[in-house]
Amino acid sequence: MSLQASSPLTWTHRLGQLGPQFFTRLQPKPVAAPAWAMRNTALLHALGWPDALLSDAHLNAFAGNALLPGSDPLSTVYSGHQFGVWAGQLGDGRALWLGEADSLLGPQEIQLKGAGPTPYSRGGDGRAVLRSSIREYLCSEAMHGLGIATSRALCLVASPEPVRRESWETAAIVTRIAPSFLRFGHFEHFAASQDFQSLRLLADHVLAHHLPECQERAERWQGNIYAALLDVVQERTARLMAQWQAVGFCHGVMNTDNMSLLGLTIDYGPFQFLDGFDPAHICNHSDTQGRYAYARQPNIAYWNLYALAQALLPLIGDDGLTEKVLEGYKTLFPRLLGDAMRAKLGLVGGLAREDQREQDWSLVEDLLQLLASERVDYTVFWRRLSQAMAQDDGTWQFTQAHWLNVSDMLLDRPRLQLWLERYRARVGSASPKTLGELMLRTNPKFVLRNHLAEIAIRKAGNGDFSEIAILQDLLHSPFDEHPGFESHAQLPPDWAGQLEISCSS
Ligand code: AMP
Ligand code: MG
Repeated sequence: MSLQASSPLTWTHRLGQLGPQFFTRLQPKPVAAPAWAMRNTALLHALGWPDALLSDAHLNAFAGNALLPGSDPLSTVYSGHQFGVWAGQLGDGRALWLGEADSLLGPQEIQLKGAGPTPYSRGGDGRAVLRSSIREYLCSEAMHGLGIATSRALCLVASPEPVRRESWETAAIVTRIAPSFLRFGHFEHFAASQDFQSLRLLADHVLAHHLPECQERAERWQGNIYAALLDVVQERTARLMAQWQAVGFCHGVMNTDNMSLLGLTIDYGPFQFLDGFDPAHICNHSDTQGRYAYARQPNIAYWNLYALAQALLPLIGDDGLTEKVLEGYKTLFPRLLGDAMRAKLGLVGGLAREDQREQDWSLVEDLLQLLASERVDYTVFWRRLSQAMAQDDGTWQFTQAHWLNVSDMLLDRPRLQLWLERYRARVGSASPKTLGELMLRTNPKFVLRNHLAEIAIRKAGNGDFSEIAILQDLLHSPFDEHPGFESHAQLPPDWAGQLEISCSS
C-alpha cells in the first residue's frame, strides 16, 4: 500500500485510543480502476480543508487503494436490534474509519463505506454498489440542504469491479463524514456482554468529546451525568423525528444500529421522500410488516431510545430516573412536531399558548387527513400552498389562479375550501404574502424523490455523472426556485410507483 508524503489534514484519533475491545485495525481492500463520480467542494470549503484533498493525487486514498497520510483505519464493533429483534453482534461490515480530522466545523470522523470486508462483515463482501452509494451521497446532501442533521458526503468513487446483489452491479466507495458515527448499537454491544467498564469508557468518551452539554444537563437529573446523556440523546432524536415527519422523509431501516447517538440521519438505505401522502407508506421493500412505515417512525424512535436506556441503565443505576428521562420524549416530540408543522403553515413566533397550539394542531391534522384521503403529493402540495400565500394580495379570492393551483390537486375541493376558510380565520390580519415568503423557506421545492435518484443512477451506469451534480446543486438549496429545473420539482412520473427499493445495497 503506497503512502503519500504529507497529510493535507490534521488528525486526531480519539476513538482509536479507546482500546482494542471497541474496534479492529485493518486496511481497505483495493478496487479496480477507480474514478471520481462526485466531489463535494462546497463541503470541502465549509470544512476548511484544502482543495488538494480532493485532487487526483488522493483518488486512490478515497478508493481504498492507498492510505490517506496520517489516517489510522479501523472498523468498530456494535450490536443491535433489527426489525424489533435482538440481532447480537453486528459492527462496521463495510465501513472503515480513517480517523478524526480537525475542521472549521469541529473535529470530523471520516469513513470510507464499501472499502472491503472487515471482521464484522458476517459473510458480506464489504462492498457497496454504485446505485446505493449515489443514493447515500445525494440524500445526505439533500438532508443538509433541508437543515436536517445528517452525516455528509465528501466524495464518491466508482469502480467497474463487479458486485453481486440480486443481479451483478458495480462497486463504489462513499467517503462520509460526521462529528461521530457512534450508534445506539455501540452501547447495546457492551451492555449485552456485561462489559460495564467498556460501556463506561464509551459513555465518557461521548461526554467528553461529543456531548459536553450533558455536564450542565446533569443538574436536572440529580447530578447523574449518564441520565443527562440519555436526556440529550432523546431530545436530539425527538428533534430529528419531528424534522423527518414534517418533510415527509421515511428512513426505511430504523434498527438500533442505524440510530445515531448525536441525532443525525445516518445509514441511508431504502429511504424515500413521500410522493403521495400516505401515513402508512412503507418505503423498504424488505419491511414486510411495515414496522418502519412513515407514521410509525416517531414511535420506533422511542422504542429504540428504550433499548438505549436499557443499555445505559448499568451506568445510570436508577430505574425510576431512567424512565423519567425517557418520558420526556413523549411530551417533547409532539411539541416539536407541532412546531415544525405550524412552521409549514407560516405560523411561527409568539404563539406559545397551549390552547393556540392545540387549535393549530387540529388545523394541521385536518389538512393531513385531507391529503391522505386522496394521496395528494406531499411536497408539491405544501409548495403550492406556500406560493399561493406568497402571491395573495390579501383578498383570499379562491378563484384566483394561485389558489386554483392548490385546489386542482384535490377532488374534494369543498373540503379544501372549508379548510382554507379556517386557515384564513387563524391567520387573521397577517399578510399572506409575508407568511407565504416564510413558508417558501420552510416547504422545499426540491426533495430527493426515488425517481430523481433513479435517473441519476441510470446515467451513472453509463459513465455519465452529470445528473448527480445537477441534483446536488438543486438539493443544496432546495428552497430556492432554480429556474429551468421545473422538471425536477414536478409530480413523479407513473413509473416512479413501480420502483422497489430494498435493503440490498
Ligand atoms: P444496514 O442494514 O445496511 O445498516 O446493515 C446492517 C449490517 O450489515 C451492518 O453491520 C453492515 O455493516 C452489514 N452489511 C451490510 N451490507 C454489507 C456488505 N455488503 N458487506 C458486509 N457487511 C454488510
Ligand atoms: Mg447500518
